[in-house]
Amino acid sequence: MKEKNLEDQNFSSPRGGEWIETQTQQKLKGTVAIIRERCKGCGYCIEFCPLKCLEFSKEFNGKGYHYPHIKFPEKCTGCDLCGMYCPDFAIFGKKLL
Ligand code: SF4
Ligand code: SF4
Repeated sequence: MKEKNLEDQNFSSPRGGEWIETQTQQKLKGTVAIIRERCKGCGYCIEFCPLKCLEFSKEFNGKGYHYPHIKFPEKCTGCDLCGMYCPDFAIFGKKLL
């Protein structure tokens, strides 16, 4: 079976976010897009991720909030629970397999 290759596909994300790319992307079950400037740092996405994939970045966005980043990309299933809980539509999950 042909493995998914992100370079072969149009991975434009919803509402302007960028899908997180890693060297292990071909084996990932899912990933997230994070729109940093929309984030208000509430932490709901981090709290409600069932696999605890996310953590706060040490970086700030333009509004002065720490936004999430994916700490364990290999765990993410792309279930989009993080996106469902985000009140600001700042994060989206996507299945890759
Ligand atoms: S898509 Fe699902 S598994 Fe991945 S970070 Fe979001 S809640 Fe966690
Ligand atoms: S739930 Fe949304 S607004 Fe809250 S920290 Fe996560 S991405 Fe930012």
